[in-house]
Amino acid sequence: MSSRNGRKPGIIWLNTLVFSITFAVAIIAVPGYGLTVGFSWPLVLVALVATAYCGMSITAGYHRLWSHRSYQSHPVIEFIFAIGGAFAVQNSILHWCSDHRVHHKYVDDNERDPYSAKRGFWFSHIGWMLREYHVNQYDNYSNALDLQKNPIVMWQHRHYLSLVSLTNFGIPLLVGFALGDIWGSLLLVGVLRLVVSHHVTFFINSLAHLWGRQPYSDQNTAKDNALVALLTYGEGYHNYHHAFQFDYRNAIKWWQFDPTKWMIKGLSLVGLAKNLKTCPDERIRQRIAQTQLNQTRLKLLQCKLPNREEMLHRLHQEYDQLILQMQAFYQVKKDWLALKADHLAENVEKSSMHQQYKELKQRFSEQQKYWQSLMLQYA
Ligand SMILES: [Zn+2]
Ligand SMILES: [Zn+2]
Repeated sequence: MSSRNGRKPGIIWLNTLVFSITFAVAIIAVPGYGLTVGFSWPLVLVALVATAYCGMSITAGYHRLWSHRSYQSHPVIEFIFAIGGAFAVQNSILHWCSDHRVHHKYVDDNERDPYSAKRGFWFSHIGWMLREYHVNQYDNYSNALDLQKNPIVMWQHRHYLSLVSLTNFGIPLLVGFALGDIWGSLLLVGVLRLVVSHHVTFFINSLAHLWGRQPYSDQNTAKDNALVALLTYGEGYHNYHHAFQFDYRNAIKWWQFDPTKWMIKGLSLVGLAKNLKTCPDERIRQRIAQTQLNQTRLKLLQCKLPNREEMLHRLHQEYDQLILQMQAFYQVKKDWLALKADHLAENVEKSSMHQQYKELKQRFSEQQKYWQSLMLQYA
């Protein structure tokens, strides 16, 4: 990286011009046209649908399907995402996913993570695409050999620029023609849709690494943030994602906003997606407890309380107890579920196992409550 010898890498003019011209049009020409001519409601609706199509092709397709292989989908769906990705102008699937795999492997490493958040908001949001920071790595797709065997991925890679032009001019022109407002459509479905979907997905690399909570891991900068999730089709639960990148969900609670997960689940219910991977509950709970232990331990080490050693000792003791209760509970739960499904098992055996299951569940729940109160006490 040339910042070592004090000189910045050269500017990538094509990217710089595309980002700045579309941004200028979006903030000047779009409101200008809206105030003088006005946009019709059907056009606004189509622009919203087109924006969501671009965004979800990136989150459900580029990200969760191809980069992380967290599920498998029907070729028709892959084709739809491949077109949506070109429409979103975020480089080819092969290129995007290769970069993203490097991001996960070397997260926060300023030399190797292509959009390391440790280099600041601007760099991780857009700056990394404006200069030749990784020119030597540009065509290295050795971490995406699986994708190189995928005919849809490779077809999109070969025809990427034609697909970008066809979708970005063709779709707005068609919509404009159908709704009788070609200029309005070029501005709204063409430019504003592109700028919004660009910056919304760029937030996943910038904001989702800078702002929020870290319940699942404190080993990198990835954060969970409900507001960022609202803007990014659920990708704002990025701390969970970096901890369990193979999971097709980013939000694991039913009330958290993750439309990408809902869509993938919906596709699986109609037979268009399968093998949705999830992380077992036990591993998630272990990671939460481990992260709480790390964070509380760090806090205690930083303060100068007279009884600090005693508090640290108690913290570790309760953590060990929690993990033991957790392992015992999940083991008996597994045994109980297996026995319940076994039609040949005796009723007496079933009821004794059920009793054991209920007892361990109760003990685990009490220990968990105790652990949470200790966390509050030490906070
Ligand atoms: Zn990822
Ligand atoms: Zn990330």
